[in-house]
Amino acid sequence: MTTIEQPHATQCNRCAAVFKATGQRCTAIAVTGRRNCLRHGGASTGPRTEAGKRRCAAARTVHGQDTIAMRQERSLGSARVAVLESIGFAIGLLRGNKTRGRRPNQMNEVFPELQAMFQKMILERAKHSTG
Ligand SMILES: [Zn+2]
Repeated sequence: MTTIEQPHATQCNRCAAVFKATGQRCTAIAVTGRRNCLRHGGASTGPRTEAGKRRCAAARTVHGQDTIAMRQERSLGSARVAVLESIGFAIGLLRGNKTRGRRPNQMNEVFPELQAMFQKMILERAKHSTG
């Protein structure tokens, strides 16, 4: 928090919010005793009830649009798609461009029996081609 100093004026703190679009700091004056201006949550009291505080802690949201459970489910979903895609390309069912980018973290945790079956099939195929 920086302090705006003007001659012959009272000192006040500047809002700590940063604009996502421009990367610049908000120039508004912070609410007394708070980090932010009124527009950036300076008047917010946060969760007040015990249930609300527990819910907020459990959700662990960054911006309030999703929860840790939702992120987990989405991560598992993309891992399922990635596993099915890799098997599809390996058996010749899919052609063309593969999905670009880093593979999902949880690929080892989805469809374990399918992946084991696929590994066995690959090994047998390699045995047949060499022997
Ligand atoms: Zn602000």
